[in-house]
Amino acid sequence: MELNLKKHHSDLLFLPLGGANEIGMNVNLYHLDGKWLMVDCGVGFAYDIPGVDMMTADISFIKQHRHNLLGIVLTHIHEDHMGAVQYLWEELRVPVYATNFGANFLRTKLEEYKLDKVVPIRIIDGSKQLDLHPFKIDFIGLTHSVPEMKALLIRTHKGNVLHTGDWKFDPNPVVGEVSEKEKIRALGDAGEITAMICDSTNSLSPGHSRSEGELYESLKSLIEGRKGLVGVTTFASNIARIHTIARIARDVGRKVVLAGFSLHRLHEVGKKSGFFTEDFEFISDREMKFYDKKEILVIATGCQGEPRAATRKIANNLHPSIHFTKGDLMIFSSKIIPGNEKKIFELFAELAKKQIDVMTEKDHFVHVSGHPSQDELREMYALARPKIAIPVHGEFLHTKTHCEIAADSKVGRVIQIENGLAVKIDGENPANSTAVGSVKVGYFGVDGKQLLDFKGEVIRERRKLEMAGIVMVSFAVNDSLSLVSKINLIAVGSYDFRHDRDAEETIKKEIAFFLKHKAKELDLHDGFGIRFLKKKKNKKLQEAKIFAEIEKSLRSKLLKILEDLMGKRPALEVMIHLIN
Ligand SMILES: [Zn+2]
Ligand SMILES: [Zn+2]
Repeated sequence: MELNLKKHHSDLLFLPLGGANEIGMNVNLYHLDGKWLMVDCGVGFAYDIPGVDMMTADISFIKQHRHNLLGIVLTHIHEDHMGAVQYLWEELRVPVYATNFGANFLRTKLEEYKLDKVVPIRIIDGSKQLDLHPFKIDFIGLTHSVPEMKALLIRTHKGNVLHTGDWKFDPNPVVGEVSEKEKIRALGDAGEITAMICDSTNSLSPGHSRSEGELYESLKSLIEGRKGLVGVTTFASNIARIHTIARIARDVGRKVVLAGFSLHRLHEVGKKSGFFTEDFEFISDREMKFYDKKEILVIATGCQGEPRAATRKIANNLHPSIHFTKGDLMIFSSKIIPGNEKKIFELFAELAKKQIDVMTEKDHFVHVSGHPSQDELREMYALARPKIAIPVHGEFLHTKTHCEIAADSKVGRVIQIENGLAVKIDGENPANSTAVGSVKVGYFGVDGKQLLDFKGEVIRERRKLEMAGIVMVSFAVNDSLSLVSKINLIAVGSYDFRHDRDAEETIKKEIAFFLKHKAKELDLHDGFGIRFLKKKKNKKLQEAKIFAEIEKSLRSKLLKILEDLMGKRPALEVMIHLIN
């Protein structure tokens, strides 16, 4: 049922356009009194379209209502929360709200797209309320794998929503704040939280996530005493991890080399934002040659096996100044994200072939998650005591399991949401909160400079090309459909006509035969052939129509031949030029 906005004009609605069916691509909307608020604007990983590794949500719904969109509030700097601003902002043209660190980070990304002077960025002061009438937003600091992660308490006259963003409870986060549990407890005690929209990433993991602080000892014990070069690859946004590694380097007498563009960017933005204040010794990769291997620790991008990132270059001996050899060590201080396994295992293999030691989360304690495990979710529900729970940031099984945890935690109304579904949050009668309609959602692939609709023609063609390549046929005819040029047949990634001239000849003969037959047919049955069109007023139109018909029937004929030849259907383009 399509969302009827007139009917729900004065209702508080929650409507995710992305992030409710997947981990990533978070785009959430809140509505009240005809006004909209967007929380986060992230990208997702795209796995199965050639040339496309990232995707954004289809925001056409909110684009239609952009004059009533008050702004985009970003919870933290992760790509799945702010990575789509540079792609989607022009369609919305509203202010973007972020913390100081978030704003600095966003600006460097917008610079790449020449949007840094265009997008109005407003800095959030976490201690003050942000008034975007009818929404009043208070910020609550929560620990995550990046600093300045802010949960939003969205206050309205129809009820209050705690939108958690990504979080964990960690008494020693190394960098960034300890989760402000007392604030949440006070809100819970006062019964102020109507609904909680909460992170489901690790809802399948029992127990409690481990602390960032615990990693220091573990990683240090793995690095200390090594004679060769040591590399650690991690997520380039994880400031806490980079601090942990830099501290270890300092304490075991190694200098730190950052490898990879996004790590350098994070280091710059981090310094500007008040991080990296300790006496770490960073040197450039070009200076490495002045030191012994055992004096260096490399922190590298590319822990997910990304083809152009530093770890991959190191593994393939393609890095200009960082050379790992037999007996050196590369630690993957990161999660193996589902969907990336193939790329990551290829990378492990590349390193192992060169006799470089590899350590990963599978075999050593080298990584902690930034998301809440089941015990933390239970604790959050006990603190916040929301009347309604709507889990997000997870695939179906994650949100389903999270729903069960919420129900066990005595939340009265638990709703499993999906992208595009609008839920009415009823503060007066929470039990009545329910889905009231849906809007169009979908995915766009980030393909170089363009965004491609997953359901659109270009993606369909791209998939087809990937599956079976393309055959192109072109020739010219006169208005009696007689050939006046040779027939060009070009096959790319489909069939090797260079080694099968017979097949090429068959197709060409078939085309010639088809044209003769068609010329006859048009003369005989329609009473006028193309030659007579000259006399008609709307000649051009008729000509185009007849030509489209001819191309279509030739196409289907040729497709049959190609299918017989190849055992599958390639993409096929037929171009007939009319020479008068
Ligand atoms: Zn995050
Ligand atoms: Zn996230």
